[in-house]
Amino acid sequence: MKNHPTDPFVVSVFDVSHRIGDEREVHLDEKLVERWGEGVAYVDKGHTVSVDLRLEGLHDGILVSADIDTTAVAECVRCLESVNVPVQVEFQELFAYSPTEELEFSVHDNHVNCEQLVRDAVVLSLPFQPLCDEDCLGLDPETGEKLTEPREQNATTIDPRWAALEALTSTDKTTASKPAAKKRT
Ligand SMILES: [Zn+2]
Repeated sequence: MKNHPTDPFVVSVFDVSHRIGDEREVHLDEKLVERWGEGVAYVDKGHTVSVDLRLEGLHDGILVSADIDTTAVAECVRCLESVNVPVQVEFQELFAYSPTEELEFSVHDNHVNCEQLVRDAVVLSLPFQPLCDEDCLGLDPETGEKLTEPREQNATTIDPRWAALEALTSTDKTTASKPAAKKRT
């Protein structure tokens, strides 16, 4: 049903257009031609984004409901290992038959272009601080190896020194942050 093979996420709505209550479902698998996401997590070029669309003819437009499924790649912020982040998001948007001020999206030549909506939904769902595991222990500051056991195991011997270090670093932070804050104002 796609008449624009070069445009991803563009779908014909001819058969439900102006047919109130008529519905059609479309499944799209689109390979990205560019990376989505600028941060630590992103969906890479060449990855497939799958979308289950439901198109519903309404009085003033086409209601598009989408379930999006893809996988982002990221680096764990604690141990720096590469992780796959499953992305499952959805949106619902009304594409107006005739453009209005309230409705941002409209039907063009009996087609709806969902690319921006799919992209925004995916990018906004990407984690800012991806983790390989909720309980990731990060790297051992001494060996640089990924920790498999909590460092607190040595806590009985190290505890007083850690406490002293902690006090030092926290005073460092407060003294260092004050002049910086003043500069900004
Ligand atoms: Zn990790």
